[in-house]
Amino acid sequence: MTAEKGKSCRGAVKALQDEMIRRSLDHIRHKLLVMSGKGGVGKSTVAVNLACGLYAEGSKVGLLDVDLHGPSVPGLLGIKDRMTRVREDRTMDPVVYREGFEVMSVESLLRDKDASVIWKGPLKTNMIRQFVADVPWGDLDYLVVDAPPGTGDEPMTAARMIPDAFAVIVTTSQELSLADVRKSVQFCRRLNLRMGIVENMSGLVCPHCGGVIDPFKTGGGKRLASEAGLPFLGGIPLDPELVSLSDNGTPVFEARPDSDVARAFLNIIRRIKEELGVE
Ligand code: ADP
Repeated sequence: MTAEKGKSCRGAVKALQDEMIRRSLDHIRHKLLVMSGKGGVGKSTVAVNLACGLYAEGSKVGLLDVDLHGPSVPGLLGIKDRMTRVREDRTMDPVVYREGFEVMSVESLLRDKDASVIWKGPLKTNMIRQFVADVPWGDLDYLVVDAPPGTGDEPMTAARMIPDAFAVIVTTSQELSLADVRKSVQFCRRLNLRMGIVENMSGLVCPHCGGVIDPFKTGGGKRLASEAGLPFLGGIPLDPELVSLSDNGTPVFEARPDSDVARAFLNIIRRIKEELGVE
């Protein structure tokens, strides 16, 4: 094949994939792109719990984990042993977590969960796109996407693929995380994405009295939102119990639906719905 022909074939394949992505997304009413300036701020925890909270409120939900280097969604939901079915035509069935709640993660494609996957640039881009183009998501109220952290090629691919997504930018209150999150805000502005800010680990749920105390500086996320003229969607306290629940693969909405943390997520969902104009 000549170089020219190869290029035009690749162009045709991409155009076909674009069309499949568009068709898939047409069936999904709202898309939430959960992002962060850097890793470790609780982005995946927020993505999983937003999906669980929306599902608890009766929505049909898809949860897509495209954090290829650190896929943690199956672990957080306790479905690490469940595999995605890849059909002969290369389409992939998501894992059914509950009826009306489906999950797709690169981890569910890997038999050896501890294997380190060495992704090359174009492969990553293609995998992220395949997770929308080649997965029969069907009709959904919400698709929650756990995007890769930062503002590089991978979050760019995810964001470009879903131009009508609402970005939920997760930060902690500390200055270092806030510096990174400002880059995420610029990134979303450049792509014309609507967005709001969530402050995670905002205060601490006291293991003794169960009340929320404020041992370290909070309010940075709210300040940043106000400086940038963006909606502040709410804060989630640091809850030591959430760490052990997450490690066990039990979502807080199942174990402790009345907890401060679960209420904080429901509050954020209410704010997101206001931003989306959902009744
Ligand atoms: P990221 O996706 O940003 O890398 P994760 O969601 O994987 O971050 O969270 C990193 C760690 O912090 C996990 O162990 C998780 O259980 C913990 N964590 C996240 N948010 C909270 C919270 N509000 N309270 C307690 N632990 C949290």
